[in-house]
Amino acid sequence: MSTVAAIVATSADAPLERGTVTRREVGPRDVLIDIAWAGICHSDIHTVRGDWGAQTYPLTVGHEIAGMVAAIGAEVTTVAVGDRVGVGCMVGSCRECANCQAGREQYCEKGFTDTYGSRDVDGTVTQGGYSAAVVVDEHFVLSLPAALPFEKVAPLLCAGITTYSPLRRWGAGPGKRVAVVGMGGLGHMAVKLAVAMGAEVTVLSQTSSKRADALAFGAVAHHATSDPAVFTELANSFDLIINTVSAPLDVDAYLGMLDFAGVMANVGAPPEPAAMSVFTLFTNQRSFTGSTIGGIAETQEMLEFCAEHGIVPEVEIIRAEQVNDAWERVLKSDVRYRFVIDAATL
Ligand code: NAP
Ligand code: ZN
Ligand code: ZN
Repeated sequence: MSTVAAIVATSADAPLERGTVTRREVGPRDVLIDIAWAGICHSDIHTVRGDWGAQTYPLTVGHEIAGMVAAIGAEVTTVAVGDRVGVGCMVGSCRECANCQAGREQYCEKGFTDTYGSRDVDGTVTQGGYSAAVVVDEHFVLSLPAALPFEKVAPLLCAGITTYSPLRRWGAGPGKRVAVVGMGGLGHMAVKLAVAMGAEVTVLSQTSSKRADALAFGAVAHHATSDPAVFTELANSFDLIINTVSAPLDVDAYLGMLDFAGVMANVGAPPEPAAMSVFTLFTNQRSFTGSTIGGIAETQEMLEFCAEHGIVPEVEIIRAEQVNDAWERVLKSDVRYRFVIDAATL
């Protein structure tokens, strides 16, 4: 075991503070990663604040990890010491069930092991990426394409794959009209990815403050949903809506924007149940569904796609001591568009 520097939550409501986490010995199939960059996802905040259920503290969160391989176990074949690698939201799954076998580890029938706050193979609670190093089974370690800038790549490991997967699943591409609701960390990646896939992308944001950015990312339109007329104006006009909003929405109002056989895929994860009328679904035979992260092979595919299309997250790099302020800014939708912690400042 080794002890490494980390940012630690000691309770649901206390500010984050400096501390340490312990990492297991490097097993035969393990990779020891010196973390260089760690993205801040809204899920980190939901988790620590107890939005999704009680946690065990102290807890270190973070599931957008970019780092360098520092050591490997004897049986590791996929990465070598010195490689630039990434870790996302999963560090384990049963590897045997139908979903794991099909490369959908995020839908493992036994439940996948979250990068933080989950029971690990050794019985301890997993601790995430706001730390100096991590030990991960090689199957859950991604190779980072050299074309992607190291300090900006981490957000792809959650925000990137979480939006790439539903865009692919529901056919974003030429001739498809895609709306992205909420342009934060996930939303801005959804826009860039859907544009690169060839879809016609519209951004639906609370205000018009992000309009210029949305258009710069390649969206053809941006609407502020604070104006209720938008919902009438855009009725029956999208094939796919990706909802990335971290708070409950008026679901019927958004479903009403779907054209025939349109799909609203939810990736935003507010704890409150959503309410909708089946009559809104009857119209245009609409679907209301959800999606969570992506499989490991699909995550590698997404990284290659981003390298090929020059897709890079917009990041604001912060020092460890700025993390509490960064969380407050995420909660105020004041992030352009992902905070990344420089792990050297831990
Ligand atoms: P984020 O950076 O805070 O972005 C969320 C965006 O939603 C905000 O920037 C804002 O965009 C909009 N928004 C926020 N509050 C709103 C409200 N009350 N009403 C309407 N719009 C609002 O968060 P994120 O990191 O992208 O994560 C978004 C959500 O996805 C979180 O719930 C997170 O837990 C979840 N998530 C799910 C998965 C998964 O596997 N399904 C993976 C990662 C994250 P505008 O300013 O443009 O309105
Ligand atoms: Zn995340
Ligand atoms: Zn499984």
